[in-house]
Amino acid sequence: MNALDTVIQIWWFIMGAVVGSFLNVVIHRLPRGESLIWPGSHCPRCGHPIRWFDNLPVLSWLILRGRCRDCGAPISVRYPLVEAISSLIVGSVAQLVNGGHWSKWLAGVAGMDHPAIVSLLQVICLSAFLLTVLVVAAINWDGNSVPLLVWTPCISVTILAYGFTSVWSVESDIPLLRESPLTLPFWADLLLATALGWGSDILNRRVQKRFNRTSHADFHSWEWTFATGIAAVVWPAPVGILLGALAIVLQGWVSSAKFRGSRKSTRSQAKRARCIRGASLALWGLANWGLLFLV
Ligand SMILES: [Zn+2]
Repeated sequence: MNALDTVIQIWWFIMGAVVGSFLNVVIHRLPRGESLIWPGSHCPRCGHPIRWFDNLPVLSWLILRGRCRDCGAPISVRYPLVEAISSLIVGSVAQLVNGGHWSKWLAGVAGMDHPAIVSLLQVICLSAFLLTVLVVAAINWDGNSVPLLVWTPCISVTILAYGFTSVWSVESDIPLLRESPLTLPFWADLLLATALGWGSDILNRRVQKRFNRTSHADFHSWEWTFATGIAAVVWPAPVGILLGALAIVLQGWVSSAKFRGSRKSTRSQAKRARCIRGASLALWGLANWGLLFLV
């Protein structure tokens, strides 16, 4: 790696932190149905707008020691944590896809070189997948439901990345481009895995109802359905499906065992069920992230 390679690699980490800063807004505002753009960030207690230099990812939180500059209200450690995780995801995925050969890559993109453009799309696609899991997990962890819309950017860039890869028939070592063992076109993989994710969720609920006698809808976790679908595109389909189905059964089992025998869910039970789902999604995301570097 030369000096330019290092600078660009660091730039990816910074980009990840900046994206994480926006994800904090998404995690906080999306479940409340608020606009993601307006108004700008402000302190929830004193309402004072956050100055730009107090809004630097991770750094500002450390400098302010987790307190609002104006009223001293504590700022949750979740904010810098999401930014740091996001930075690590984007930086590590970029490193994985390109192996740090950034000056070569930059020249390739400038010359509209197909493999260079595809590798950029891969960085975006894999990052979007892991970051969406992070957002869905955090929203669930707060006890909120997640709007279906949250998967749209991820699905769009996945289709784009896969489309260009196959049209230009670019070869790559990273999982996204591996041939499906079922030799299906990628959209068939996506549909099949999403349907199977959906199916295992329904099956799981029936099993829970029978054995743990819990019958409320809060254990339904369509959040997993798309996660399974995308995982099947990122991974060879059977691995993605297996990962998704396993996680659905595990989290369904844990949450319904906790509320064994309760026929109607109270608000707090529903909230706790979502919380468990959030935690299991986070673990599942971590497993996917780890696997990227192992295989
Ligand atoms: Zn304040």
